[in-house]
Amino acid sequence: MKDQIQKIILPLLLVGAAVVVLVWQHDEKAVYHCHQGYVFGTYYNIRYSSTKDLEQLVLKTMQDFDNSMSTFNKASTISRINTNQSDTTDLFFEQMYAVAQEISQLSDGAFDITVAPLVNAWGFGFRNKEKVTPQLIDSLRSIVGYRTISIHNHHLVKTNPSTMIDASAIAKGQACDVVAQVLSDNGCKNVLVDIGGEVVCRGVNDKGEPWRVGITKPQDDPDGSKQELQEIISTTGLNMATSGNYRQFYYDGDVRRSHTIDPRTGYPAESDILSATIATTSCMRADALATACMVLGSDSALALINRLPDTECYLICATQEDSLIIKKTTDFFAHVEKKE
Ligand code: ADP
Ligand code: MG
Repeated sequence: MKDQIQKIILPLLLVGAAVVVLVWQHDEKAVYHCHQGYVFGTYYNIRYSSTKDLEQLVLKTMQDFDNSMSTFNKASTISRINTNQSDTTDLFFEQMYAVAQEISQLSDGAFDITVAPLVNAWGFGFRNKEKVTPQLIDSLRSIVGYRTISIHNHHLVKTNPSTMIDASAIAKGQACDVVAQVLSDNGCKNVLVDIGGEVVCRGVNDKGEPWRVGITKPQDDPDGSKQELQEIISTTGLNMATSGNYRQFYYDGDVRRSHTIDPRTGYPAESDILSATIATTSCMRADALATACMVLGSDSALALINRLPDTECYLICATQEDSLIIKKTTDFFAHVEKKE
């Protein structure tokens, strides 16, 4: 008799408990969360709607990413590869490498992650600035070249052991993709991830409207305090990155040196583009292409972007008369303002 009661009562209790859990879950409302702070030497602004606060998960994801890709973190995968302490790659590194090499080929070497020694020499990198002479640039150019590295079985192979890698022109975009993916894996449909101006967004904002994303006006702004916008884009689905030479630059006498280096000459790029904004299939790709465009200059950049499927650009260029001119792909606004 006692056994029979147990057989009937126990399942009933379990069903009851399941119903309580379901009702409770149903009652839980998704709300918008916003996390802001500093990472990878820049700001982040992350917003999403969810029943759960995912801040710890977001922070852990960014820390894991930093442990792989930051050249300022001495124990990271990339730093250990740069100092030849290790040649072992990891997933973030391999994803970055694959896209970086593709964009290097597409841009004929204008984009090149092995540019690190030149970036350092010009004072924009993870090592101290050197006294730049034509001889120094020539000798550094001999250890730069995307074709001199390869990955075999999760190991990076360098033709020259002095070669170093700088993923700064692609990693912020990649980090946006990674954080957005983690949020999406956790059921978030409405997401905005902005890391230092590279942006991924999906769905709608807390007013139920498309997210609004700005393209900054390229004005000299070394401390990042000017926020005047050139355009505001209203969108429910976008992967967009901007590179510019209006924040990271210095004057060397009368010559303006900006942080985009032309790996083919060894000198800071002297391009007519003040800022290059790219929208494409991933933010990592957009980030790398934006830097490639800065090096190429507007005519070659537009020709490159026009050849690529699902890729649009908005280039703000300087004219000889010191005014601004916009060169963009025909479908830029149709693409970025699409409602998914
Ligand atoms: P931002 O910081 O404005 O988003 P980028 O995405 O263009 O700029 O990244 C610029 C950084 O990328 C530089 O500071 C340097 O570390 C690195 N870099 C410079 N020139 C190149 C290049 N030709 N190819 C790849 N990386 C570059
Ligand atoms: Mg970039």
